[in-house]
Amino acid sequence: MILILLINLKLMEEISIRETIEPLNRSTLRNALKINGTVRSYFSEFLRNMGYLEIPPVIYSTATDPLNHPVFDTSFEYYGQKYSITKSMIFHKQISVQYLGKIFTFSPNVRLETSDKASTGRHLSEFTQIDIECLNATRDDMISLAENMISGVIAEVKNKNSQDLTDLKRILNQPEKPFVKIRYEDALSQHGKHFEDVLSAKMSDPFWIIDIPVNEREFYDREDPENEGYLMDMDLIYPEGFGEAISGGEREFEIEKILQRVALKGQSPDQFKWFIEAASGGLLPSAGFGIGIERLVRYLCGFPKIEMVTPFPKVPGKRSI
Ligand code: AMP
Ligand code: MG
Repeated sequence: MILILLINLKLMEEISIRETIEPLNRSTLRNALKINGTVRSYFSEFLRNMGYLEIPPVIYSTATDPLNHPVFDTSFEYYGQKYSITKSMIFHKQISVQYLGKIFTFSPNVRLETSDKASTGRHLSEFTQIDIECLNATRDDMISLAENMISGVIAEVKNKNSQDLTDLKRILNQPEKPFVKIRYEDALSQHGKHFEDVLSAKMSDPFWIIDIPVNEREFYDREDPENEGYLMDMDLIYPEGFGEAISGGEREFEIEKILQRVALKGQSPDQFKWFIEAASGGLLPSAGFGIGIERLVRYLCGFPKIEMVTPFPKVPGKRSI
């Protein structure tokens, strides 16, 4: 892996320091940061009012999200113990709600995405998600919480940042709840394997993709006991071609099922040692989701690229400071 990383570093697209600093001067960055401020305050207050406790982010850990797509490794050794930089706080969320009931966190994630992701307009190698988890909640509970958050934040930004939206010439549609739900298999059969992009470009309001097949996702997403092979999970997709906004769902909580799913992925329980040990003591069910903050701000601003929302973007495959 070290060798692969070195080769990749050599191939990194050279950008001068000047080019990296120059966007700091753009007025659109100022608009985006003001909208980012509204998003963070709105979500914090909204969730606190709903009884959610904010927990501080975890930056590195002995077990992080395995993810379902390849990224470069970010592990290191410290006093003989191997750690990884957080790709998501999924395990910390599932364990902390056992004690705290309802939690949220603004969680910085480092995912060293491959350089083909640079042109999607929605991938950074360092980003923040507002990550939420609730004990004894169902997917439907989380869908309605997310719908309230997304439609609430759109209304708040239209109200508090109307001048920024005018500066950006952004007309934001206020979506109607409940959002449309489309089953994964239906989307696939009607629109082919790029259904997410096709539907995102066609729709004018956010919509859900539900019932994603087991092999498309990680071991911790709960398999539907009444619909074998499909998960009790959901993705929210932005309209106007902005793509994925949210992923989430119910979690596997029974240790036998967790171990089965880890094995199905060809992974070793050792990779998730502390989580598996904690889960072996018995877990209550929970559900949750994560909203990528930079993607949300990009959508609210109507920007062509995600890197326009942040002063020091980490664009996959490009040298950053
Ligand atoms: P995931 O659970 O992997 O879908 O991640 C949760 C959310 O984080 C996604 O729905 C996105 O909004 C956001 N996200 C994931 N990967 C990236 C990335 N590379 N750059 C920016 N945002 C991301
Ligand atoms: Mg996702």
